[in-house]
Amino acid sequence: MTLDMDNVEVFDAGEKGRGLRTTKDLCPGEVVFAEPSFAAVVFDSLSQQVCHSCFRRQANLHRCAQCKFAHYCDRTCQTACWDEHKQECAAIKKYEKAPNENVRLTARVLWRIQKDTGIVSDGQLTSVDQLEDHVADMLAEDFKELKIDMQNFLDYCPKTRHGKEYISHIFGIIKCNGFTLSDQRGLQAVGVGLFPNLCLVNHDCWPNCTVILNHGNQSTLNAAYHSKRRIELRALSKISENEELTVGYVDFLNVSTDRQRALKHQYHFDCTCKSCSEHLKDDLKMAAKEIDGNKPSDQLVKEVQEFSLECLAKVEAACTAGDFHEVVKLCRECLHKQEPVFGKTHLYHLRMLSTASEVLSYLQFFSEAAEYAGRLVEGYMKLYHPNNAHLGMAIMRAGVTHWHAGLIKVGHEMICKAYAILMVTHGPNHPITKDLESMRMQTEMELRMFKQNEHVYHSMREAALQNKPMAEASSVEDNIKALSHKQ
Ligand SMILES: [Zn+2]
Ligand SMILES: [Zn+2]
Ligand SMILES: [Zn+2]
Repeated sequence: MTLDMDNVEVFDAGEKGRGLRTTKDLCPGEVVFAEPSFAAVVFDSLSQQVCHSCFRRQANLHRCAQCKFAHYCDRTCQTACWDEHKQECAAIKKYEKAPNENVRLTARVLWRIQKDTGIVSDGQLTSVDQLEDHVADMLAEDFKELKIDMQNFLDYCPKTRHGKEYISHIFGIIKCNGFTLSDQRGLQAVGVGLFPNLCLVNHDCWPNCTVILNHGNQSTLNAAYHSKRRIELRALSKISENEELTVGYVDFLNVSTDRQRALKHQYHFDCTCKSCSEHLKDDLKMAAKEIDGNKPSDQLVKEVQEFSLECLAKVEAACTAGDFHEVVKLCRECLHKQEPVFGKTHLYHLRMLSTASEVLSYLQFFSEAAEYAGRLVEGYMKLYHPNNAHLGMAIMRAGVTHWHAGLIKVGHEMICKAYAILMVTHGPNHPITKDLESMRMQTEMELRMFKQNEHVYHSMREAALQNKPMAEASSVEDNIKALSHKQ
């Protein structure tokens, strides 16, 4: 297997250790490199709903007759994956159940390392076992979990040739380098995989690249045309030759101290990026509302923040319980309290707006959902990088909500805007971009019809006012009926 790594080279990034930089100028949306997974597994909780080969969420998956654990779209997916699954299949059969995802992934990585011994594939910039494991920095609770996983691994693979130290090294590598894979719609995390070259790309809170899993041609029913699980590293902005390539390991929608804490906990480093050291946009994320230079008192801001946090916890509990009407009630109450106190970019306000618009749109209260989604997008646009994938997805959802609410003009504009962002972050061949493209065409057509009807409507009014005979009265009436029906 040859990987095209011509656009990048490994370099010494100082305190950050190794890093990757470009060897040429890159444009927004350009694929820096693509890489198939070295190994990947579907999460335990979704093992019957997601194909273990192509990671698509699919109804009626076909079960492996041997281990009765692995599930596939069809024979083609199963055959494509057999090499990866063969040893796992036998191990699960013998162990009489499947161990957890950490243990399954570690086993897959070790089998692959064993199989690949002596084969140096082109474009592999690092060997898997040279990645950082941070076992020595692990918190006590994580270390306890590692020991349990380790014991389960030894029961699952009793004949392993590897020593305990090497096995825990691999567990550690997966813990801090594992990449979460989402389903074909980008809506749900479905598994975890290891992509060694990608692991060399360091973090920045305001990165110049993004990573996307590309499931290939979604419309193809025949799995033979499904592409292999592979990620693409895509440039978000113009990047000059020799510049370091970075991705965001954590969401930018947290204040710098919270991002730093999360990065330290999971990835064991202190982020000193420009956004963190200069606390960029932290003020916006905690902003109080300002009217004519007047701000609410610090005490009031503090109270509403505490109220919001409590409310967010209650909302989460109600969501888990599936009580969506309770969620709506809590959101409305909280948004009402936040309104006079928080700025439009306050994080707690945005979190509330996000949940409120999702749930209301699920309950088909589209007009209210659209209003919140619009405010959410407005806030996001002030905080996120203009080509951020989360921003693109949020604008897409807001566009769909507006469309459903009958606000076709704004809906269409949002869908176009989302499409432009996803062309950069996901690329033209990603299934989500393809969905967006057809929504863009659909809304464009509906908008044209709406405009035509509006025109007809106005000309009819004019005609009535001037008492002129109507040429195509019946067709005009039909058009207006269609218009009022749509709205
Ligand atoms: Zn499949
Ligand atoms: Zn099997
Ligand atoms: Zn940072």
